[in-house]
Amino acid sequence: LFVTFEGGEGAGKSTQIRRLAEALKGEGHDVLMTREPGGSPGAEAVRHVLLSGAAEAFGTRMEAILFAAARNDHVEEVIRPALAAGKVVLCDRFMDSSRVYQGITGNLEPDFIETLQRIAINGVMPDCTVILDIPAKVGLERAQKRAAADAPDRFEKERLETHEKRREAFLDIAAREPERCHVVNAMQTEEAIAAEILAIVKQLLSP
Ligand code: C5P
Repeated sequence: LFVTFEGGEGAGKSTQIRRLAEALKGEGHDVLMTREPGGSPGAEAVRHVLLSGAAEAFGTRMEAILFAAARNDHVEEVIRPALAAGKVVLCDRFMDSSRVYQGITGNLEPDFIETLQRIAINGVMPDCTVILDIPAKVGLERAQKRAAADAPDRFEKERLETHEKRREAFLDIAAREPERCHVVNAMQTEEAIAAEILAIVKQLLSP
């Protein structure tokens, strides 16, 4: 089973993925946790470049192609083999992040983005996508608290308006693909969010 997690900054994706992984392992499932950009040695190298200041010299098309290149490596080297081995794969961001970040707020044509995604995922579609939904302002405040400890990456410095646009874009994807996408209100307590996600995934594991 392939589950992806999507949403804006500060929605709590990484916390929830960790909790879900623990819960599923506790029930005897073989779980692989991974993330994008990155997840394979080649893709982590691309991540390093994409999140650094060096990428400010890239145009949005180049950036989108690099994200897609990293995704394809991650799919072929890590995700496809794990799924073939019967693992539950939990991935922090995947193709929907490219649709939203590079497509919508990067102003790239939908055709260009969709073509890249087709090449990148090469048939490995998520069975289920959890979209953690949070008002942009709340998410940004949470992410800024975290960034006070870490150095903020270049994407986290963007304006509130951009983050609001992304929230809407994730919700649009969910509305267009209701079978695959599950919107979870990330303003609930950590426990309530975890319980909701676990229920969604367990239904898919034992229909
Ligand atoms: O998941 P996380 O928030 O750590 O992602 C790292 C950064 O990469 C984020 O700031 C996000 O804005 C950016 N990103 C992006 N396009 C993607 C995936 C992530 O701009 N396709």
